[in-house]
Amino acid sequence: MIDKEQFFLPSHRLIAGNWKMNHNHLEAIQVTRKICLRLLEKGELSNRSVSIHPSFIALRSVQTVLESEGSSVLLGAQNCFYEPQGAFTGEVSATMLSKLNVSLVIVGHSERRTLFGEDDQLVLLKAKSVVANNMIPIICVGESSQERNDGSYKEFVTKQVISIVEAAPKELLSNLIIAYEPIWAIGTGISASLDQAVEACELIKEATTRAVGATKEFNLKVLYGGSVNTNNATDLLSHESVGGFLVGGASLDPDSFVEIVSSVR
Ligand code: PEP
Repeated sequence: MIDKEQFFLPSHRLIAGNWKMNHNHLEAIQVTRKICLRLLEKGELSNRSVSIHPSFIALRSVQTVLESEGSSVLLGAQNCFYEPQGAFTGEVSATMLSKLNVSLVIVGHSERRTLFGEDDQLVLLKAKSVVANNMIPIICVGESSQERNDGSYKEFVTKQVISIVEAAPKELLSNLIIAYEPIWAIGTGISASLDQAVEACELIKEATTRAVGATKEFNLKVLYGGSVNTNNATDLLSHESVGGFLVGGASLDPDSFVEIVSSVR
């Protein structure tokens, strides 16, 4: 259960591990056990939450490990469908995920947008269904190298953010995580610099606040994602505007993932 007051404080970081289509359910059990053990060895870690996002088929196994270990690691999913049930072959609903004690659901990852044709409208429907089931969406935005190089990236990211937040219901705005994930940095080994990450995180916060107004209920955390690793994590977290990370490749190995988690101060 997430303590939202604590969770959305700027000093509280979220480190989310997106395993993508890696780790079958047996491997996922081993990796989860190792993460729990490594975190236990680190002792009390304040100012941070940790989530892991296995594939759908491993969620139940990982849930069981986390619960039997009494772990504070949050269970996350990588995607969902917005209808609660029905004739949607191959899809998994937010309603089903919530029954597995999933807390966070990634929506609109750039791989879903580019490989599976997801657009802002679909991303919004998914995010709404996540919130309606008492979970928190991690909505991914970010420009390709084309927009970065031609200088239109600010406009591009702002448009992505606005299209979602302008149409978002109150419940979504009070439970919002946006991950800035420049496509040119995902899985390439080329991370954004601290300045680039801070600029984008602040741009997202300003655009959201301008679009919806900062009310008492409004909660937003902005994460950075794109080739985060044990070498660049401390630097990228040295500015409060970066609310944490969505980590892909480096989250697959329990040692490097926990080292990244430990870089939160
Ligand atoms: C991601 O896919 O969300 C991601 C950030 O991947 P990587 O860390 O491997 O760049």
